[in-house]
Amino acid sequence: MANELKFAQQLIDFVYDSPTAFHAVSTVKNILNNCGFKEVKEEEKWNLEKGGKYFVTKNDSAIAAFVVGKGNVEESGFKIIGSHTDSPTFRIKPAPEMISEGSYVKLNTEVYGGPILNTWLDRPLSVAGRVTLKSHSVLHPETRLVNINRPILIIPNLAIHMNKNVNQGIELNKQKDTLPLMAHVNETFESGNYLLNAIAEELKVEVSQIIDFDLFLYEYEKGSIIGLNNEFISCGRLDDLSMVHASLEALTRVEAVEGTNVMVAFDNEEVGSSTKQGGDSQFLSNLLERIMISQGKSREDFFRALARSFMISADLAHAVHPNSGEKHDPIIRPLINKGPVIKISASQSYTTDSNSDAVYEEICKMAGVPVQKFVNRSDERGGSTIGPISSTHLDIRSVDMGSPILAMHSIRELAGVLDHTYVTKSFEEFYKL
Ligand SMILES: [Zn+2]
Repeated sequence: MANELKFAQQLIDFVYDSPTAFHAVSTVKNILNNCGFKEVKEEEKWNLEKGGKYFVTKNDSAIAAFVVGKGNVEESGFKIIGSHTDSPTFRIKPAPEMISEGSYVKLNTEVYGGPILNTWLDRPLSVAGRVTLKSHSVLHPETRLVNINRPILIIPNLAIHMNKNVNQGIELNKQKDTLPLMAHVNETFESGNYLLNAIAEELKVEVSQIIDFDLFLYEYEKGSIIGLNNEFISCGRLDDLSMVHASLEALTRVEAVEGTNVMVAFDNEEVGSSTKQGGDSQFLSNLLERIMISQGKSREDFFRALARSFMISADLAHAVHPNSGEKHDPIIRPLINKGPVIKISASQSYTTDSNSDAVYEEICKMAGVPVQKFVNRSDERGGSTIGPISSTHLDIRSVDMGSPILAMHSIRELAGVLDHTYVTKSFEEFYKL
């Protein structure tokens, strides 16, 4: 268990360093740089070498890293693991400050994705994201990441005395009930610039240099290992940073093989994926084609390579809930710490079919890792992943899988310490093929 615990702690550190999709990409870049990967830019000419290790980013919020295979790609194909960098949260609106009672300063926010709203109440929150600054070129403003990294916000609950039905369940209004409180009105600050002043101070720039921002809220408190025997990981954004972490770790551990190994982490999965940096874009498809082009391959070779490729769409799965077991399928009941979960759906909201299921099951067997399955209760709709969306751009075989967790989209999700090691081992085995 000691190694598994250490690795779970690494995941918690990774998530802590990655409060937004932008920071997740930056954290991944740092790790790749330390492991000898070279950055290639979309706008430059690529001269890739066999056995070379590279990465490319999109919009500072999506990233793909790859190890060019030693063989001919059209004969050995691509082995891809896909995940996503974003998580449900709140996005800060432009000119966000609102004064209440002539005294409180709160922030105007918009919900991003599908968080369990009530889990965000009464928790110390902070702000992080990307800030865009004036530069010498109008077309290419400067971008900087910012993380306030202090608990500057909170969304206070309404007292039960004024909210008698709160324990029967009440609806939270997204424009009224979830706005975070930031400060008391303070005469020393120019009105309307409380947040911008804090950001400018953090970045050591003038407020007038800031043109716009992509800022989000996050839970200030770090994740932790919990349980009587240290069996659980309680942490925000495990969906889907745990799969980003696992695929990154596996990619960096495995030396070049015949096939070309790729890990890709898209942004915007939680809001439908249809952005240039999302799964519903040409980002991955163009990347694979460019890997071929840089090796002097033809378009026919590209299609031959795709036909020999395989993708693991890695996103989390629902473990059976200890208090609500009836919400799950009566027979297929995945549990935490019992191994990665293959996700199957008749509606094809997951890409798994018997062929891709068989491939991943065998990989788990070779890795010495237990494997489980998930299906929705037949009268529940369930979620989807980047798998089916990516398949509409890249017609390659694909399996949907993920670690089993509880409380998906809560501000703190619950995963298993053993599962994180199991999943990573299975990814390593896949990249070794
Ligand atoms: Zn997800």
